[in-house]
Amino acid sequence: MKATKNYKFWFCTGSQDLYGDECLRKVADHSAKMVEGMNKTGKLPFELVLKPTLIDQASIRKTFNDANNDPECAGVITWMHTFSPAKMWIIGLQEYKKPLCHLHTQFNEEIPYDTMDMDFMNENQSAHGDREYGHIVSRMGIERKIIVGHWENPAVIDKLASWMRTAIGLMESSHIRVCRVGDNMNNVAVTEGDKVEAQIKFGWEIDHYNINDVVDVVNSVSEGDVNALVEEYYSKYDICLEGRDEAEFRRHVAVQAQQEIGFEKFLEAGDYHAVVTHFGMLGGLKQLPGLAIQRLMEKGYGFGAEGDWKTAAMDRLIKIMTANMPNGKGSAFMEDYTYNFVPGKEGIIQAHMLEVCPLIAEGPIQIKCQPLSMGNREDPARLVFQSKTGSGIACSLVDLGTRFRLLINAVECKKVEKPLPKLPVGINFWTPEPSFEVGAEAWILAGGAHHTAFTYDLSVEQMVDWAAGMGIEAVVIDKDTTIRNLKNELRWNEIAFR
Ligand code: MN
Repeated sequence: MKATKNYKFWFCTGSQDLYGDECLRKVADHSAKMVEGMNKTGKLPFELVLKPTLIDQASIRKTFNDANNDPECAGVITWMHTFSPAKMWIIGLQEYKKPLCHLHTQFNEEIPYDTMDMDFMNENQSAHGDREYGHIVSRMGIERKIIVGHWENPAVIDKLASWMRTAIGLMESSHIRVCRVGDNMNNVAVTEGDKVEAQIKFGWEIDHYNINDVVDVVNSVSEGDVNALVEEYYSKYDICLEGRDEAEFRRHVAVQAQQEIGFEKFLEAGDYHAVVTHFGMLGGLKQLPGLAIQRLMEKGYGFGAEGDWKTAAMDRLIKIMTANMPNGKGSAFMEDYTYNFVPGKEGIIQAHMLEVCPLIAEGPIQIKCQPLSMGNREDPARLVFQSKTGSGIACSLVDLGTRFRLLINAVECKKVEKPLPKLPVGINFWTPEPSFEVGAEAWILAGGAHHTAFTYDLSVEQMVDWAAGMGIEAVVIDKDTTIRNLKNELRWNEIAFR
């Protein structure tokens, strides 16, 4: 996938000059050991960089501004080793613009019962200093992540690692550029939205081109390049002729190969990381891009169909947040399609006409070439597969006219009970939490779309924190959801997010 910056996170320890040089030497020594130890776990996706201990307003202000100005700094992690009077943090916090984490920890895990004296207490009082610091951050209304626990506890390291990915989502959001070569599908409401407001809130640039601008690039792709890519497809995927003539099948696949190369060239030339198409606006394209778009998604491009730029940007965002994740299971643009209402086996078939990201696939991936019931083009080639099982989240960003709402549903992905030999698309199948009935009712109540950005690899908490960092409403549907409480939450949010 397209690389992001070599991001780092700054670790900033707060103290003051009340306790003397020896105490400050120990504070600095402890902080260095902690940063080294946390880096050495190998669990953090990005490096922690130790900064000099902050003991006065000038050093705090300078450090936060240096963090703002360093393009590789993705966030600051703060911790008060001793007491650190919080008025001196005000100006630095006011000027700070990046993600903020408050690691509420302590150098020693256990109370040193036999040796503890008042010097030790004064030196190790984050229980005290972190409350003073936390007060001013709350009073100033600054969004931050608070992580509580000993820095050597693996659960704390995991939380810090998760938050780092949220911070990358906040940082990278303003670099997302969506290329639209199809407008929002006529008369569809939920995929529409205010692109100006999206740029103000999220930093997304959402541009439009005529599809034939891309067609020109697609048509200029050489036959040699197309044939080489077709060979790659044939070596990587199972070819499923289903009675079609072999040469004719290959010609259909070659159309998609040419589209993959052409679209990617066009997107790279314009520095776009997400793309939107529309089956009704194909210009000179011979087929609806299916396999081509699936391959681009696999490379890390966000995608939304029928002009859905919001889901395209969210898909790209999730792909950045989960980049290089060990044992990552993938993310995809998805659409709620068809239900299974059989008691005990309830769930939703997730798919799209063609464009389902193969990152979520499990088992063999086939290339099929089947008619598309919509549009007036050749039968498009597409990748067909089933998806991994396990928990995931489905995200839908909707525009409510006066604000954006991010809807997050925890879902459990399952194998479909029986094969679907006649269905020529990649699919997922999931049951929403807390149950099929409550999950679907809650989703509809909250105004969620039929298009979602889905991932196995992010938690509800990470996306809630991302939404909070962006200053938008997040509504969660998970094990704790009841319709009565959700209705109240939506009612109260009408006021809170006015
Ligand atoms: Mn759709």
